[in-house]
Amino acid sequence: MSGNVYAAPKASLERLTKDCSECGAEINKKAVICPKCGVKQKGQVSKVALVLLTFFAGGLGAHKFYLKKPWWGLLYLLFFWTWIPGLVAFIEFIIYLCTSEESLNEKYEAGNSGVIIAIVVAIFGGIALIGILAAIALPQYQNYTMKARTMAAIQSIEPLRQEVQQFIVKNGRLPQTPEEVTADNVRELPNLGTARLQENGRIVILFGNAASSLRDQTIEFEPRIANNQLSWDCTGGSVKPIYRPQQCQRR
Ligand SMILES: [Zn+2]
Repeated sequence: MSGNVYAAPKASLERLTKDCSECGAEINKKAVICPKCGVKQKGQVSKVALVLLTFFAGGLGAHKFYLKKPWWGLLYLLFFWTWIPGLVAFIEFIIYLCTSEESLNEKYEAGNSGVIIAIVVAIFGGIALIGILAAIALPQYQNYTMKARTMAAIQSIEPLRQEVQQFIVKNGRLPQTPEEVTADNVRELPNLGTARLQENGRIVILFGNAASSLRDQTIEFEPRIANNQLSWDCTGGSVKPIYRPQQCQRR
């Protein structure tokens, strides 16, 4: 206690040793096992790793796994979807941020951060990958299913179209009213909607609730007679061209 003015400033006195957590002996700072008593040393908590893990993956309990509290970590992981672990983790993030690394080490012991960081990266990477795949595949799949539905609807009006065609061939003209062809001029298309026969032999397919993304949209089939030839025009109606078979897309 002589107050030596020649003593080096305190800030530069970096300790190269630590005290054994078991026997208290001064040992190498990086020692994993105490050479004196042979007891394994507590894992050093890195404040940077802890703060980052808590901030970015605290809602999944990553910091709890890091601090060797796997049961808490599991609890966070199980309830992450309630957002409560995320909220708690955010408060913990602030607490850790305001606590010195020394105090953190007095209170906690660190597990293998490398493994935990790898798991967190894998989880986030997995979620991102699924998201990217879904973003690419989902619209493709929807286009495909809607096109399949319009094709199915066009297939299922075939009997009605044949009836109209027979009328035209027999009478040499278009039917003016649907009643000239059939009394049954509204047909259910199971799981798709309805087909309605209108004047001049026009058939309108109206998609219903079951075909949700095509709901309330139409495809129209119109018979045409030109040079004694009968042809059908199916480009009418509100269904987008990409959901139609080629011959029913407007050219
Ligand atoms: Zn020791």
